[in-house]
Amino acid sequence: MSGPQAGAPQAAPDRAAVHGRARPDAGAGAAAPALLELRGLEVAYGGIRAVRGIDLEVGEGELVCLIGANGAGKSTTLRAVCGLVPVAGGAVRYGGQDITGLPSFQLVRRGLVMVPEGRGIFGQLTIEENLAMGGYASRDAAQVRRDTERVFGLFPRLAERRRQSAGTLSGGEQQMLAMGRAMVARPRLLLLDEPSMGLAPLMVEKIFEVVRAVAAEGVTILLIEQNARLALEHSHRGYVMESGEIILSGPADRLLHDPKVREAYLGEG
Ligand code: ATP
Repeated sequence: MSGPQAGAPQAAPDRAAVHGRARPDAGAGAAAPALLELRGLEVAYGGIRAVRGIDLEVGEGELVCLIGANGAGKSTTLRAVCGLVPVAGGAVRYGGQDITGLPSFQLVRRGLVMVPEGRGIFGQLTIEENLAMGGYASRDAAQVRRDTERVFGLFPRLAERRRQSAGTLSGGEQQMLAMGRAMVARPRLLLLDEPSMGLAPLMVEKIFEVVRAVAAEGVTILLIEQNARLALEHSHRGYVMESGEIILSGPADRLLHDPKVREAYLGEG
């Protein structure tokens, strides 16, 4: 899908496999200009400081993951980027502009799209109608139709059920639909909140295949996952969050071999 990202620098496809999985374009790396920058980001819920002054960057074309235990503050970070919770301190920059506190509908128009935890599917609407919602900010109805067909090509299961109400889909199919809807919105930056949550292993594989395919098209991705191994195996770089702070960051391969990550997040050591 050649959206606003079409002009973005494309690194050569990376064939290097980590644990047998190829990352989309590891050449992008930290050297790419930052598309998303968090500087000293703070978020509080009443007296609870859920995010405590974190710095994080995602380069154009990168796939970056944010991992950490339950309650570490990962979802809150994403929600703050999308203007869904108030920012108590620090700044969010996107494409070189300060977007701190901008509401999500304005961000979608700029290509910043989130697939929320729990997927945000409209159960009463059909699959087709849910996908059309992804294009609500677009004035080009023909393009939305083409993008919808493209999603059906990517997910034949959704195509077979296109006139069925989305509430009848399985959890994995709903995740496919949420990803598809985000694609119809033509993201430049895609924020994924726990795409593997509650899915059977085969479905998780399928969803991550699609994440890789989307990244290979040049879409920049920030991925949140409790499944640290899965996230690191598919990402270029990673950040590890604990109690609202970033405690480690670096290339995904390095984090996969880091003794602390192995012990605390990969169940090894
Ligand atoms: P999970 O994977 O469980 O979603 P997480 O790393 O995404 O974990 P957050 O959901 O961001 O963590 O939660 C961070 C902290 O903020 C936790 O202590 C949580 O209890 C608290 N929190 C999250 N949402 C709210 C809310 N709406 N009101 C009050 N506290 C909240």
